[in-house]
Amino acid sequence: MVTKKTIKFVFYLQVIIILFFWWSGSGELLGTSTVGTLLAVGRLAGLFSVFFVLMQFALIGRITFIERAFGLDSLARIHRRQGKYAMTLILLHAALMITSYALAHEVSVAAQLTEFVTTEPELLKSFLALCIFLLTVGLSLYIVFKHLKYEFWYYVHLLNYLAVLLAFGHQMKLGGDFAQNAFVIYWWAFYIIILGGFVIFRWVRPLALFFNHQFVVQEVVPETAQATSVIISGRHLENFKRESGQFMIVRFLDKRRFWQAHPFSLSWSANNKNLRATIKNSGDFTSEISTLKVGTRVIVDGMYGVFTEKRMHKKKILFIAGGVGITPIRSLLEDVAKSRDVLLLYSNKVLSDIIFKQELDTLAHTNNFIVHHILTEEEGYKGESGRLDEEKIKRLVPDFINREVYLCGPDGFMDAMIAILMKFGIKKEFIHFEKFSLH
Ligand SMILES: Cc1cc2nc3c(=O)[nH]c(=O)nc-3n(C[C@H](O)[C@H](O)[C@H](O)COP(=O)(O)OP(=O)(O)OC[C@H]3O[C@@H](n4cnc5c(N)ncnc54)[C@H](O)[C@@H]3O)c2cc1C
Repeated sequence: MVTKKTIKFVFYLQVIIILFFWWSGSGELLGTSTVGTLLAVGRLAGLFSVFFVLMQFALIGRITFIERAFGLDSLARIHRRQGKYAMTLILLHAALMITSYALAHEVSVAAQLTEFVTTEPELLKSFLALCIFLLTVGLSLYIVFKHLKYEFWYYVHLLNYLAVLLAFGHQMKLGGDFAQNAFVIYWWAFYIIILGGFVIFRWVRPLALFFNHQFVVQEVVPETAQATSVIISGRHLENFKRESGQFMIVRFLDKRRFWQAHPFSLSWSANNKNLRATIKNSGDFTSEISTLKVGTRVIVDGMYGVFTEKRMHKKKILFIAGGVGITPIRSLLEDVAKSRDVLLLYSNKVLSDIIFKQELDTLAHTNNFIVHHILTEEEGYKGESGRLDEEKIKRLVPDFINREVYLCGPDGFMDAMIAILMKFGIKKEFIHFEKFSLH
């Protein structure tokens, strides 16, 4: 398996290669004059802005071996961070290039910019690319701030593909460092590998899986007033690689839904013949899931995620779930409870919200483990009432310090649990969590 270390090594190797080519192309400009220095630093910012933009594609390209090493949610976090580096470098590149030329030609920055975009078509295209990048950043911040639909955010992000295409030409035609043939070959190869990988893993692979397995909705089962299970069958699913605790990105091919894909965890063991996702109403797509028709074809992209038994070190496991966060844990429990000492703390608002109550009781009974249902709003409840807190964890799980924790639930719930577990002195490497958001 390709490890994080190997991927980080390749990343830093690219940084060194780019620095080497830049040094041999622009290094001599440094310190010669203000214009020369601004030009050299501006070119460096330009090269690394492209590097980080391409890294964005590698990070969200669902490239299997990268995903297996990091997990898609970590990749989404790195993607967010590197997006900021890319944007800063793009702005720095534009500012330094325009300023250095303006100084050299003894004209104002505005006059230089006007000359660039009116005389050189590639510079006009790259200026448009810059405007698109700025627009997508502004719109994305607005969408997240206003809690608008995920799809708005997704489609706004697609504009970035156009910006990458628009910006490509000016590097090759005008980039001072591309006088070296070796660098031109390296740069083309870099683009082809990253964008090719993106297309293969993001588009070709899911389609190949679809044609191979012919996924179809086999059953739609109401679980609670808010949650519905969808069972997906297909051809030769024994060859469809998956692990309990992982998730898939599904696209139901009916008129209403074919244009959007959403991630859902497996909600039963990967050893079952079919796939099951259990979906809670949380927006327009999820609240209409009960209208899904049996026989609907499905594109299943996956499986992804590292919330699996492979990452378990200890024999004793504490599972903590909040609401629909039970899905990957339900999937793991079925396998893990057979060979490990497990305990489940499951928090919900009221009794009728508990998903898989019957299944969990049966699993607990057959595998001899304890499930504590903690309810925050059920009046007259005889079990554990109120929020899951330090006192409850200490009392219900006296040996918590010896356990490895698997946690999944709403963001606020997970943050609170992680803070408590860290305060208890449980090491980070023994706390695993699955976030139900990728942006
Ligand atoms: C790894 C992972 C596993 C998940 N497993 C489950 C599960 O087992 N059961 C379950 O009910 N929910 C699960 N979710 C959450 C589920 O994907 C969202 O609730 C669903 O996509 C909401 O779509 P919507 O249109 O109804 O709501 P919207 O109002 O459009 O979105 C609500 C929120 O859901 C998230 N979201 C929406 N669409 C997507 C998308 N295409 N990709 C990533 N995030 C999105 C966003 O954070 C958004 O703010 C999981 C999410 C992730 C990332």
